[in-house]
Amino acid sequence: MSEIRVRFAPSPTGYVHVGSLRTALYNYLFARHHKGRLILRIEDTDQSRFVEGAVENLLEALRWAGIDYDEGPGKESAVGPYFQSQRLNIYKEHIHALIKSGHAYPCFCSAERLEKMREEQTAQNLPVMYDGACRTIPADEAAARMKNEDHVIRIKIPQSGETIVQDIIRGTVHFQNNLLDDQVLIKTDGFPTYHFANVVDDHLMRISHVIRGEEWLPSTPKHMLIYQAFGWEAPQFAHLPLLLNADRSKLSKRQGDVAVEDYRKKGILPEALVNFSAMLGWNRGDDQEIFSVQELIDSFTLERVNKAGAVFDLDKLEWMNGQYIRSISEEAYLKAGLQWMQSFNLDTGDPDKNKAILKAVRPALNKFSDLPQKAALFFNEKLKYETDALEWIRKTESREIFSSMLQEIQSFDRLTLDEFSQMMKTVQKETGHKGKKLWMAVRAAMTGMTGGPELPVVLSILGKEKVVQFLNQALQQ
Ligand code: GLU
Repeated sequence: MSEIRVRFAPSPTGYVHVGSLRTALYNYLFARHHKGRLILRIEDTDQSRFVEGAVENLLEALRWAGIDYDEGPGKESAVGPYFQSQRLNIYKEHIHALIKSGHAYPCFCSAERLEKMREEQTAQNLPVMYDGACRTIPADEAAARMKNEDHVIRIKIPQSGETIVQDIIRGTVHFQNNLLDDQVLIKTDGFPTYHFANVVDDHLMRISHVIRGEEWLPSTPKHMLIYQAFGWEAPQFAHLPLLLNADRSKLSKRQGDVAVEDYRKKGILPEALVNFSAMLGWNRGDDQEIFSVQELIDSFTLERVNKAGAVFDLDKLEWMNGQYIRSISEEAYLKAGLQWMQSFNLDTGDPDKNKAILKAVRPALNKFSDLPQKAALFFNEKLKYETDALEWIRKTESREIFSSMLQEIQSFDRLTLDEFSQMMKTVQKETGHKGKKLWMAVRAAMTGMTGGPELPVVLSILGKEKVVQFLNQALQQ
C-alpha cells in the first residue's frame, strides 16, 4: 500500500459530538496501525456557523481523549495548520479550472426563483433539485455576467448514467446521476461549500482513505464527480455506521448527552470513552471488550467495521468506566479522584482521609460524578436509615452490641483499622454475638444501610467521635 494518509475534518460547531470522536478515533487507529499520518483539518468555511471558542474546544477534546495527530493546528508542519478559511485562494484557483473545462458553471438564479422552484417540485412530488436553468448560458455571456452579478458556481453533473462508489465498509453503492443535484461549489460570498473544499483538500493533502460518518455517503458520488472533473484519482472511502439511541432512532441531543464534554463532566475517564467509542461499530471478531489503546491500534481494521447502526448504550459506557476506574493505577485513580472531591467540595483537608474515602468507594464507583452519593456516608452529620437497616438496629442483640462498643471505645484515643478490630474482638467476647449478627448491626448503625464499602475502612474514616455519635443515635431508635 502506498503511504497511508487520513484526516479528521470537523466543522467546529461548539461541541464535539461523540460520533465525531469515534470518527477521529477510527482515523487515528487506522493511521497508527498502518504507520501512516493523521491530519487534522478544520472545515470552517461556513461563516454563518462560526462559534467562538469552538476550535479550542475541539483541540482540547482531542487532547483529553489522547488522539494525537501529525499535521494540523498546533503542529509544526511545512504546510499546515489546516484551516480551510485560510485556504480560500486555493479554492478560487481550482474553481476557475473547472469552469474553464466546462465541468462547472455560474448560476445567477435569485433566491426567490429557487424557492419557487422548490415549492413547485415539492407540490408535484418531484425530488427537490436545481433545474439547470443556468447550465446553457453561453460561456462568454456567463463570464461577462459574473463580473457584476451575484452568482454561485455549480457543478455540472452528467444527466445520465450512474456513479459508483466503492466503499470499504458498505461495498459497491450505485447512484443514478440524474438524481444528483448540480451542487453549489462556491457560494455567493465567494466561499467554497463543504463539498468543494473537502475534495480539493483531500486531493492536495494526498489523503489515501476518507473515513467518515455514514451521513456523508449521499455526498460521495458528487465528490467522485468532482475528482473526475479534475482528472484526479479519488481516495478510498469508508463510511462508518450511524450511532443510535437505545430505541434505534438516530442518536440525538433530545434523548441524552451527545457531547464529549458532557461525558467528561460526568466523570467518564478518557480511556473508557475511547474504548467504548472504538466498540461502536467495530469488534475484533471475538468477545473482548476492554482494549488498551495499543491493543486497538494493533487490531483495528476497516474490514471489521459493521454496516449496521451502533447503539450508544449508556449503561455499558458506565460499566466500562467502572472497569477503568478499578484498573488504572492507584496513583492515577487517587489523583483524578482528589480533583473530583475538590470540585464537589468534599476535600476533608486531611490527605490520608481523602485517600481512604477514595479507596473505600472505588469498588462501587462507576463514574466520578457519583462520588458525592457514594461518599455521602462519610460526610453525614445525622444518619438517615434505610428500612432494613432500621430493623437491624432495633434488634435487642444489636443494642447490646452498640452499648458494648460505646463502653470499649473509651479506651482508644483514635480508631485506626487495628484498634477497631481489637475493639470488635472484645465486643464479640463480651456480648457473645458474632458473624452476620454483629457486622450487620454495626454496618446499619454506622451507615444507615445494609450494603456498602468495607466496614473497618468506614469506621476508620468516620473516626472515634462520629462513631460514638452514630452509636448513640442508633440506641435512640
Ligand atoms: N466537515 C465535515 C464534518 O463536519 C467533514 C466530513 C468529511 O469527513 O468529509 O463532519
